[in-house]
Parts: sequence; structure tokens; C-alpha cells
Amino acid sequence: MIEEFKDKNVGGERVIFCNRCKQDTKHIIKSSLVTNGNDQINDDFIFYWSENVEILKCNGCGTTTVMVEESNSEELPWKDGAYPHIVYFPNREDGYIQVIEKGFLPWKIQKIYSETIECYRHGLVVLCVAGIRATLEGVCQDRNVKDGIVKRKRKGVYVDRKINNLEGKINGMCEAGFVSKRNIDILHTLRIVGNDAVHELSVLEKVKVEAAISILNHILTDVYVLPEKQRLLKNVQDGSGLPL
Ligand SMILES: [Zn+2]
Repeated sequence: MIEEFKDKNVGGERVIFCNRCKQDTKHIIKSSLVTNGNDQINDDFIFYWSENVEILKCNGCGTTTVMVEESNSEELPWKDGAYPHIVYFPNREDGYIQVIEKGFLPWKIQKIYSETIECYRHGLVVLCVAGIRATLEGVCQDRNVKDGIVKRKRKGVYVDRKINNLEGKINGMCEAGFVSKRNIDILHTLRIVGNDAVHELSVLEKVKVEAAISILNHILTDVYVLPEKQRLLKNVQDGSGLPL
């Protein structure tokens, strides 16, 4: 059975982020369509679902946004329709995060990094973390680091072994002098975060992913941006290059 309620919410308000005003603003509901439905799956089980589509207008700048709110009896506790999934068109741009000057990165890494940031902006947390890991792999590959020394416990004693997984490669980056010893722990933190998300498909908090991106930015700046800027500056000082 399906029921439709047109313009039931018109005149109501929602406070959401406005992409043009760059802050949360009051939005007026100009049009709405609520659709409630249920399907009798078998004698004992009825599946309930609800969809609410609204056209919203920012009270500050007049920009229009479409909101689609969905919920169903399987994914969520069916109580007052609480905790529905909400999507906005266009996507809200409130997930602002500092990104580095991508032009200094090798093309391949630039591409993985850009897609990783896009995943973050669209709330695709697991893919974003997988992207962080892939960016790290890309840096190791670009610097031709294929392995590194890892401590492994053998018969109760730690021994050094050369290993070619990401853990080994990260240590190899340090051995080759591409990253400082201080930054190694940071890189391993990123690797472990990536491991958890990819292998266990765990849901990471957005704030942890933001921290992981900041750390990744720090590493990429150290490995690519700063050496390149230093080189440009040196060229200017020598009179052999263009100013920054
Ligand atoms: Zn606005």
C-alpha cells in the first residue's frame, strides 16, 4: 500500500548548510512530497518505508536545494521515523578540509589523492580511508621503495626481517631517508587505520578520517611539496628559474 502527501510540509523551515552563504542558514520548504509505503513480505512480516522529497530555498541568498529523506523499518528502529537517511542535491559542501597544493605531486599520486578527498567530501568514509592507504602505497612505489625492515617475534625474541608489505615499505621509506623517524609512527597509524577500514569494513568516525587526511597532507608536503618549493627557491636565488 502506498500513500502520498503533497506539500504537507510547505512553509516549514530547516536549518542546513548553504553552499553559497558558506554557513548554516534557515531554509524554507517550498514544495514537498511524502510517500509512505509498506509491503507484506509474508504472513508475519511487513516492510515499511517512507520517502520525503522537499524543495528548499535559502532565506539568505535564495539558492534552491532538493532534499531526499528516506527511512525504512529494516535499517532503523521504526520510531517516529527517526534517524532517516538524508541526501541533498547539490551535495552540501560543509565538509571543508584543507588540501595540499596538488600540482607538486606526481600525476599518479595526484589522481589517487584527489579521488580520496572527493570520497571524503561525499561522505564515502571507507573508500576515503582505502584511498589514504592507496596514496601511501603510491608514494612508496614512486620512490621505488619495495620493502623494509620489520621487527617480528620469533620464539619469544624480536628479529629484524625484510618484508614487502605496506608495513615494510613504510619502514623502507625511512631507511631511504624520504621520511623522518618522527613521521614513521604517523605513517604506521595511517596504515593501521586503513587496514581496519578496508579489511573489516568498519565505520570510522568522520573526525578520525579528517585527522588521517591531515596526517597524509603532512607526509605528502614533506616528501613532495617542500623539496620542490626549495628547488624553485634555489633556482630563483641562482637566477636560473622563475620566481614562485
Ligand atoms: Zn544561502
